[in-house]
Formats: sequence, C-alpha cells, structure tokens
Amino acid sequence: MTVLCRIMEFIEAGRSQGMNDRGKDRMRPRDGINRRKKLYLTLVAVGFSAMAILAFAEKYLPVAFFKTLLYGAISLFLAGNILMYIGIRCPKCKATLGYHIVFSAGKADQCPRCRINFDEDMS
Ligand SMILES: [Zn+2]
Repeated sequence: MTVLCRIMEFIEAGRSQGMNDRGKDRMRPRDGINRRKKLYLTLVAVGFSAMAILAFAEKYLPVAFFKTLLYGAISLFLAGNILMYIGIRCPKCKATLGYHIVFSAGKADQCPRCRINFDEDMS
C-alpha cells in the first residue's frame, strides 16, 4: 500500500501548505490557482490509485461491489482531469487557464488573455 501512503503524504503536504498561505496577509492570484491545481491533482491521483488497487483486488471482490468501486474510481479520475482543464480560471478575466497552467509546468506567470501577473497582489 505504498501508493496510499504517498497519497496521504501528498494530501498532508497540501494541507500544511494551505495553513502557511493563511498566515500571510496578502493574497496573490497564484495562491488561489495553485490551491485549485493541487485539489484537482489530488482527485486525479486518488482516482488513479483506486483504479490501480482495484485492478489487483478484482479477484477478491464480489463483482457488483467491484463494479461500483470501479465506476467511482473512474468518475473521480475523469472529474479531476476535466476540472483541471475547466476549473482553473483567471481571477481577473475568468479565462480558462487549465491547459496553460498544466502544460507550462508551474512556469506560467501571467494570464494568456488579460496578461495579469499571477505573482502580483490583486487590487
Ligand atoms: Zn486573465
């Protein structure tokens, strides 16, 4: 169950990160974007791990129960993926940023539409 341990660590890390953010008195657009990205990545990771675990557990589970769990895991995985693309939005112009953010691997520092800088304070 090392995969599950990884997920727990990942979730814990996200939680303490959130607490640190709350301690600051200024809010950058990037903080909100990163929090959403982390949340959706967690959904994808949990869904994917559940599918992987189910693949091994299939022969030990009753068919109906297995199917229910499998559909749940697939839905979680797909929902996380879809939300990653449509759920991350520019705090200013509301443009969908998912594709831009995910594929620029954290280097994205401005909105491709309105050019707001994600590291500057929101006014
Ligand atoms: Zn924008």
